Amino acid sequence: MGHLTPFLRLAAMLSSRGCLVTLITVKPTVSVAESTHISTFFSTYPHINRLDFEILPCNPPNSTNTDPFFIQFEAISRSVHLLKPLLLSSSPPLSAIFSDFVGSVTVTPLAEHLSIPNYVVSTTSARFSSLFSYLPFLFSENSAKFGGSDNDVQIPGLSPLPLSTIPPPFFNPTLFFTSFAISNAQILPKAKGILLNTFDRFEPDTIAALNNGSVLSSLPPVLPIGPFEPYKFKKGDYLSWVDDQSVGSVVYVSFGSRTAMSKDQIRELGDGLERSGCPFLWVLKSSKVDKEDNEEIEDLLGNSFLERTKNRGIIVKGWVNQEQILAHPAIGGFISHCGWNSVMEAARHGVPVLAWPLHGDQRVNAEVVENAGLGMWVRDWGWGGEKVVKGEEIGEKVREMMSDEKLRNKAMEVGEEARKACQDANGSSVKALMGIIETLRLAE
Ligand code: UDP
Ligand code: UDP
Ligand code: UDP
Repeated sequence: MGHLTPFLRLAAMLSSRGCLVTLITVKPTVSVAESTHISTFFSTYPHINRLDFEILPCNPPNSTNTDPFFIQFEAISRSVHLLKPLLLSSSPPLSAIFSDFVGSVTVTPLAEHLSIPNYVVSTTSARFSSLFSYLPFLFSENSAKFGGSDNDVQIPGLSPLPLSTIPPPFFNPTLFFTSFAISNAQILPKAKGILLNTFDRFEPDTIAALNNGSVLSSLPPVLPIGPFEPYKFKKGDYLSWVDDQSVGSVVYVSFGSRTAMSKDQIRELGDGLERSGCPFLWVLKSSKVDKEDNEEIEDLLGNSFLERTKNRGIIVKGWVNQEQILAHPAIGGFISHCGWNSVMEAARHGVPVLAWPLHGDQRVNAEVVENAGLGMWVRDWGWGGEKVVKGEEIGEKVREMMSDEKLRNKAMEVGEEARKACQDANGSSVKALMGIIETLRLAE
């Protein structure tokens, strides 16, 4: 969902600006959330064309991966030969392809072969995108330093990245995800442009470094066009409870679409929310893939907890409409894993973040959140699964976030900047997007 959502948003953004859009999605999907969102999207936007990319099943004995989403990446790579006829079947013919950063190794050479301009869309921060783009060089030139004794990773033009923020799998180039990331990064110079779901004022120095050749001289233009606009959706039920809460009082808690905490950590988080004294709306996941998430809330948290907090909090097991929750005036803070979509949604609505990054790009993203003034981050809570953070400490930090006036004002300013970037015709993100559309129009 962290990759599908920004693409659905981008498709709607291009379509509402007069582009004829064809959305190519992979079939079958891994999660139920993906398939329901795809169907709802096409029924809401009937003028967007649909093409299904039916991938070959990935034979498990051939895969060294256990993560179902990574197995899907592999299956997509193995089905690349089916993509060419699909692209050629489009009528009218395609004038440009917008494809995922993590699909570059598949799509970019094919687009080049078909002479179709290819814009690569990165679904993470400008800062993590820089690390990703620079990864092949960290291994080749600098391998002694990368993961060695230095405490920082140096990428030209960027403030040093503390080693503790680099996803641990990145230190091992033989792991699937790392070798896959390297192959995708190596192909980036062949793209026509790299689009980012961020905005100038949120990551100014990093965006400048990517564009002035400091990070890599071979990169195409990097265009920040975020925060992406939400597309049309239905209202969720739990909002009637939120409607009854006072302004800025509720803590919203979610770790995204594919991250489950351990049962011990879930209990401590419950304890922390109770201790904080704040009303809360908590989206609880106990399994990575939604259709396997069968555990009952009572079994995870216990009936006495639910009894004690019944007038204070709502726990949802299942999909919520996060963008709509963050837009609600009662929400005063967000405990987030810092998946990049969540960060941009918080920025768009000026909601302060208590960053609790667990995997992958999330620590680098948490640094960006902190530097932009959108939130706070307790570094010693560790990577996901490294330790169990106690309820007492969680409660204390939640109270700290919710009562920090300075943070609240700064987050509101970030929200203003985000809206300016995407609202009026002079907004930096609007100008970048319209520039791309204009280039394509002139090429026709
Ligand atoms: N999301 C949502 N409801 C949920 C869980 C997630 O709307 O119950 C959305 C969230 O708003 C975001 C995306 O799913 O747009 C998750 O992406 P993110 O990058 O935050 O994290 P990931 O799921 O990739 O770890
Ligand atoms: N993981 C996840 N969401 C992410 C990143 C990772 O669910 O955004 C999963 C990942 O696929 C792996 C587990 O969490 O199965 C541990 O991830 P870690 O980054 O610690 O990798 P490891 O070093 O254990 O391979
Ligand atoms: N990642 C990683 N190890 C993992 C999972 C993710 O290093 O086990 C890194 C990877 O570099 C990737 C980033 O985290 O670019 C985001 O991962 P992914 O796309 O799986 O997560 P999502 O965007 O869905 O949250």
